[in-house]
Amino acid sequence: MQGINDLTIEQLKSALEQIPQAKGFRSKQIIEWIYKGVASFDEMTNVSRDLRERLAEEFTFHYGEIEQRFPSKIDGTIKYLLRLADGHCVEAVLMRYKHGNTICLSTQVGCLMGCKFCASTIGGKIRDLTAGEMISQIYAVQKDIGERISNIVLMGIGEPLDNYDNVLAFLHNVNEPMGLNIGYRHISLSTCGLINEIDRLADEELPITLSVSLHAPTNEIRDKIMPVNKKYPVEQLIAACKRYIKKTGRRISFEYILIDGVNDTPQAAQSLGDLLKGMLCHVNLIPANEVEETGMKRTPPHVVKVFQKKLEDKGLTVTVRRELGSDIKASCGQLRKNRMEQNA
Ligand code: SAH
Repeated sequence: MQGINDLTIEQLKSALEQIPQAKGFRSKQIIEWIYKGVASFDEMTNVSRDLRERLAEEFTFHYGEIEQRFPSKIDGTIKYLLRLADGHCVEAVLMRYKHGNTICLSTQVGCLMGCKFCASTIGGKIRDLTAGEMISQIYAVQKDIGERISNIVLMGIGEPLDNYDNVLAFLHNVNEPMGLNIGYRHISLSTCGLINEIDRLADEELPITLSVSLHAPTNEIRDKIMPVNKKYPVEQLIAACKRYIKKTGRRISFEYILIDGVNDTPQAAQSLGDLLKGMLCHVNLIPANEVEETGMKRTPPHVVKVFQKKLEDKGLTVTVRRELGSDIKASCGQLRKNRMEQNA
């Protein structure tokens, strides 16, 4: 059945126009309830019972419920395992920064991309999330903490650009004044590098931040750790990033996880510096989270420093990601994977 919270607000307005009792201010009331985060028609207390029943004949709600929460004792980070209506689970992470509460959301159940270092991809992709299932992760966490979330990063389980239309509907509803009213500048989308969709996204001209999971400066290294590179090699990906920057005028954030002995040599730093030199970009170095199955180890701190310095010498802006919630470990994908193993 059609999820009422999966439609864009524009689509929803037209759908409600077709229902005689739901026109005009009724339609506004219904939309307000949805974007207050209700998960059933019964909660729409100022809408008549008849109309609620009529809506329930045509629509359902797609949402996730908190199954487990893991609060960090070190910082305010909380990791959540959320259960969807069909029993599948995804993860969301709340991070507290000075500039506000940030949520890291999932966009798919599992992932098709097959990156060798990543826990989310181990069982493949099961399905895409709907727009409603994405937005409900925000409501579930806001309700849990009793505070507003002001920033969103699409860096949880899944490849957002492999679920393009639902992600776009989600972004529109998050941004809509009648929706969550969160500015596009407070939203980041991370991709492993699907270049046709990067071009499509550039044409949407949304002032979000695009993060690109580069993780290697050459095809030789990237082919070994990211299967997507066989389809879209580094030079094509960088060309797409340059088109994106030209079209949108926005800085790209390149994510680079440092894996011991794989992509962290001085030569790799040199090649990365040459590859990105002069681009409107930012490099985010992330010491890899160790996922047991992958056998990969994180780069030690002194090697991270050398790597960073080499890039800075090329004039690049580089940060090393501060690790939050290190005591609750479970980098994205691991909670869900543990749960799948328990159920098996
Ligand atoms: N599919 C998208 C978004 C989800 S992954 C993408 O690839 O960007 C979010 C980020 O976490 C990506 O940069 C991904 O490469 C990174 N990541 C995956 N496994 C990791 C690990 N074990 N340690 C550190 N970062 C990891």
